[in-house]
Amino acid sequence: MKEKVRKLIQMLFREELDIQHRLLNLILSAALVGGLGSLIVTIVIGGYMSAIVTAILLLAVITSLYLSVVKNKTTAAAVLITSLANIVIFPLMYFGSGGMYSGMPMWFVLGLIFTFLTLKGKVCYVMYAINLIVMIGSIFIGERFPQLIAETPENFMLQDIVQTIVSVSAIIGIIFKYQTYVYEKQRTRILEKDEQLHIANDAKSQFLANMSHEIRTPINGIIGMNNMLLEELDHDGDPERIRECAKNVNSASQTLLSIINDILDISKIESGKMELIPVDYELFSVLNDCYNMVKSRADDKNLDVEMEIDSGIPSMLYGDEVHLRQIINNLLSNAVKYTHFGKVTLRMREMSRKGKDITMMIEVEDTGIGIKEEDIEKLFDNFSRLDEKKNRKIEGTGLGLSLTRKLVRLMGGEIRVKSVYGKGSVFTVVLPQHVVSYEPMGDFGEKYKAYIHKSSESKAQLEIPDTKILVVDDVEMNIKVFKGLLRKTKAQIDTAFSGEECLEKVKEKKYDLIFLDHMMPEMDGVETLHHMQEDTEHKNADTPVIVLTANAIVGAKEQYIKEGFVDYLSKPVQQEELIGMIGKYLKKEVIMSEEANNQVGGLAGRFPMLDTDAGLKYCMNDEEFYLEMLVTYLDGDKRAQLADALEKEDFKNYETFVHALKSTSLNIGASMLSEHAKALEFAAKEDNFEYIRVHHAEVMAEYDNLMKELEERITDEEKETYRE
Ligand code: ADP
Repeated sequence: MKEKVRKLIQMLFREELDIQHRLLNLILSAALVGGLGSLIVTIVIGGYMSAIVTAILLLAVITSLYLSVVKNKTTAAAVLITSLANIVIFPLMYFGSGGMYSGMPMWFVLGLIFTFLTLKGKVCYVMYAINLIVMIGSIFIGERFPQLIAETPENFMLQDIVQTIVSVSAIIGIIFKYQTYVYEKQRTRILEKDEQLHIANDAKSQFLANMSHEIRTPINGIIGMNNMLLEELDHDGDPERIRECAKNVNSASQTLLSIINDILDISKIESGKMELIPVDYELFSVLNDCYNMVKSRADDKNLDVEMEIDSGIPSMLYGDEVHLRQIINNLLSNAVKYTHFGKVTLRMREMSRKGKDITMMIEVEDTGIGIKEEDIEKLFDNFSRLDEKKNRKIEGTGLGLSLTRKLVRLMGGEIRVKSVYGKGSVFTVVLPQHVVSYEPMGDFGEKYKAYIHKSSESKAQLEIPDTKILVVDDVEMNIKVFKGLLRKTKAQIDTAFSGEECLEKVKEKKYDLIFLDHMMPEMDGVETLHHMQEDTEHKNADTPVIVLTANAIVGAKEQYIKEGFVDYLSKPVQQEELIGMIGKYLKKEVIMSEEANNQVGGLAGRFPMLDTDAGLKYCMNDEEFYLEMLVTYLDGDKRAQLADALEKEDFKNYETFVHALKSTSLNIGASMLSEHAKALEFAAKEDNFEYIRVHHAEVMAEYDNLMKELEERITDEEKETYRE
């Protein structure tokens, strides 16, 4: 019952209603209660006639209430009730209870105020005028024909006026109080909203400011490096330095791309547009990729990586593999970034199992700088970077963890951190996944070894000299990049700079694959494809067409496939993805170049002291380029300089030379020598001259040996060719 009354009150005075409507409801409810009361009283003590009159009035009140509350017809309800009071009841009461010499004139005033309170616009003034005329009319008529005014008992006047003063002032007072209450409430609400808007706006500006800063840094790097590159080229610069610059441009671009991807991801999640795309996936392959990624970074910093993967964990799972990788990679790369000594450990095990669902626990532990207790809360905020002073040398945007937690939560999981400042941190992710196969994954270490073995066996390059590819893009630069990425494949690449040109080309020649840019002026990629589908007067009706797009919006892929593309590649195109895509749609034609394979074997035979595989990797598996590097290495002999620097105890220069020895040796696949040179470099950096004095000779002997071997094993002819 109480609940019902509360609900009723809430409905009558809810906030969506404007103030007039709420006042009307208030007045009508009061009239209903008053009316019911007087009906009872008249039935008990009044006459038969007055009971009927009261009942009719009550009916009018109920009708108005119905109109106002149920039908939302406020004007009709207000007109009905004010006319009833001001035109019928009050004038009748005026004549019935003493006219001027009673409380009635005050009730007239109240009635007129009601018209203003409950009506809006023109109706309000019209009703006011009519009511006023009726009331003043009644007063004049009463004056003219006093016999119409009923006799009232003695004392009545005084009592009536006092009573009226009390009731009318109370009613007006309550109404004003109510209005003030509603106004105040609304005002505070507006102020609060304003405040929130301000905060949101500040956060947004801050976000934009941070973002522009983060984006500018790599762009400045790219521009600066590129300028240096141009300068070097203008002055026939050192190839080593040119390579260094180009590499820096590359890494800054990758940083930029990853920042933009993070920002896109975050805004997609925040606007609720991030879709999870669950697929069947092999857990080992995810872990393997994560391991490879973290291993190379950890190696650069002399950190160990340990994989403690429960061998009983199911091998095939179903879930959003891409985002799972992203989560693990983010945590691992942070662990490496914020650790200077020691190791990084990735742990994974199954926590619970229920039918086809498991809960996995993924843990990344490091022996790094740790996080202060008070900072843990801030860790997951956008752009939050802790200990900025101490960490200023470490690249980062403060987006990684924010994104990671958002992803984990989106996938139905949770992430926790435990950390001891100065000792290290443990990030734990608990994540539900579906199981496809409960077959246990097995020992990670052993599987990894088997994988490495297999992949080194099949490390052949995609050579497809007979494959005809058409690439369509209106931006020449993009086409150049595209061709550059495929140069090694020796594929025959034709180009078109517009949709129209593409339509011409497909009439002339049969292609094995077509790459079509989406955004082109005049006829865009989708239209071009539609033309190709409609008009089959060409030779490429069944050629797979892949769209190139910078459109990173969710669901874009499905849209493109619906349009008729077989697949899509997002820009900027990455070499691996491009080659992978070609491999996927050319399966039959893919030729594992036997020849190239043999030559690789040949190289390994010619230079047994080198890890030619590793060296070739640095040369993008280009054998000639590798030989060129070997010749450059020979010519860049640092023996004399190193001996000289040591003799003069000029450790600054020593460090520079030994650094060069480290990186060039690594590039040609002399990994041991590179390691030893690295140790010398570190020693020089830390002013540990003792170490240098003790170890210099043995490293030099190793270097000496290698140089002699190379001198012998590279033919004069080759030296001649590659020196040009
Ligand atoms: P960033 O791009 O700066 O690495 P993150 O969002 O990934 O951004 O991390 C936010 C901050 O949290 C980092 O700047 C760093 O101060 C701190 N942090 C993250 N991971 C670790 C870790 N493993 N050990 C210590 N501090 C960490």
